Amino acid sequence: MITLIKNARIITLDESFRIIWNGYIVVEDMTFTRVEEGEPDQQLIDVADRIRDARGEWLMPGLYNTHGHAAMTLMRGYEDNLPLDRWLKEKIWPFEGQLTREAVAAGRALAMSEMISSGTIGFLEMYHLYMDDFAEEIERVGMRAALTRSVIGLCSREEQDAKLEESASFATRWSGAAYNRIQTMLAPHAPYTCPIDYIERIVDKAEELGLPVHMHLAETKKEVDDYQKIHKMHPLDHLDERGLLTRVPWLFAHGVHLEKHHLKRMSETHARVSHNPMSNLKLGSGMAPLTAMLDQGISVSIGCDGVSANNTLDLWEELRIAVLLQKGLLQKADALSVEQALRMITSEGASALQTGHSGMIKAGEEADFIMIDATSPHLQPEQHIHSHLVYAAKGSDVTDVYVQGKALMENRELLTLDKERTRFEANKEFADILSRVN
Ligand SMILES: [Zn+2]
Repeated sequence: MITLIKNARIITLDESFRIIWNGYIVVEDMTFTRVEEGEPDQQLIDVADRIRDARGEWLMPGLYNTHGHAAMTLMRGYEDNLPLDRWLKEKIWPFEGQLTREAVAAGRALAMSEMISSGTIGFLEMYHLYMDDFAEEIERVGMRAALTRSVIGLCSREEQDAKLEESASFATRWSGAAYNRIQTMLAPHAPYTCPIDYIERIVDKAEELGLPVHMHLAETKKEVDDYQKIHKMHPLDHLDERGLLTRVPWLFAHGVHLEKHHLKRMSETHARVSHNPMSNLKLGSGMAPLTAMLDQGISVSIGCDGVSANNTLDLWEELRIAVLLQKGLLQKADALSVEQALRMITSEGASALQTGHSGMIKAGEEADFIMIDATSPHLQPEQHIHSHLVYAAKGSDVTDVYVQGKALMENRELLTLDKERTRFEANKEFADILSRVN
């Protein structure tokens, strides 16, 4: 199958950040075989099975959301005004106690529907329920994902071991599945829910299996203060003291309450961070030192976290908040460049999820891309496209989404998910749980 898309503005986001103002791409099966300037020759037109004229559209890499809990999408708007610890104990955990297999599936379908509709092609899922179901669904829907069956260690040694075993066997079963679109990691939930000995055993297992480890870290000041009272040190220093930072590739979510020496240590040990600004703002957790992380050379990508604390999965919005907050808080208009910003939702995201994809548009790379309707007033004048992508674009501008050459959305119509059914199921399952929780 050969697809030719011509007359496109191609925003490659490659190493040189090249824009091809009028060009074409050729996709053969799963791969870009040509990414070129100008008009395709007649020979190419003759062999193409499908030709699309992309006049008035921008073609660019798909986006990556590197921390989240898709199943929690069902809890959108469930509680808006509690801090993290009370929010979890009083609202989220009781609600989750009522989740059925169908409700979890409904939340996840809603999340995928929202992500694809706004141009996200890959995401990380940290959750503990029905992960095999989700992997099967992702295989069918066509997105990329890093999946973790996360564990909480506030239980007996036997229960801890059983959870770790379940998590490791899930990770082994699905790593590299769906034409390598699915990657896996191990995931202790957080230092305040997993004793350090348990985290150490998880790292042992990850090292044995050659997997990265994902964990919430230093999300709130209270959590760090409480930890320091008990252990006389910051959770990151504790991991370091045990020698755990250097043994596996880490991807930490949040990292809001970190000191300068933590950033240096993270940089030295190549730990990655998923920055989740909207969740951190909404739960009143604070603001991670994003610019300082980037200055230290830490690989930072962006995550929306659970929708219950965000409340959307629109990475454009998430990125804009991330960038604007740094500029405002530091009183520094050049705190972050558009290049740094766009890397965080494309190439840095692709590497954080261990996709093996560069997150760029180039020949020889798997054909992942999205298309944007560039005719809207808020994207004119067209000259400064990179700026528009950071400061003006919206999820609803995305018209088409492709992963490995397969269309997941065309002309805003989802092709691998039933939007109406997804909406119906989500409302039905939410109402059902609500009647049991209250
Ligand atoms: Zn989270």
